[in-house]
Amino acid sequence: MLKCRELAQLASEYLDGSGPKSLKWQIRLHLALCHNCRRFVRHLRTTRELAARVSALEPAPKGQSAKIVQILRSRD
Ligand SMILES: [Zn+2]
Repeated sequence: MLKCRELAQLASEYLDGSGPKSLKWQIRLHLALCHNCRRFVRHLRTTRELAARVSALEPAPKGQSAKIVQILRSRD
């Protein structure tokens, strides 16, 4: 089984949907069994979504950090 450290390194690829299928299953198995990594991947996904949204707001408006805080709060 994958180690947590290995999963952390592969998580980004996993969220992209890239990488071999066998690896995806290993990651899914690990996530099914490991609460910490589930949380880690969930946070990583959220961060990536936020980064995508923020980069869609170009040109960067004033008060962008306030906007990020607002988005973060709305997700909890
Ligand atoms: Zn783990």
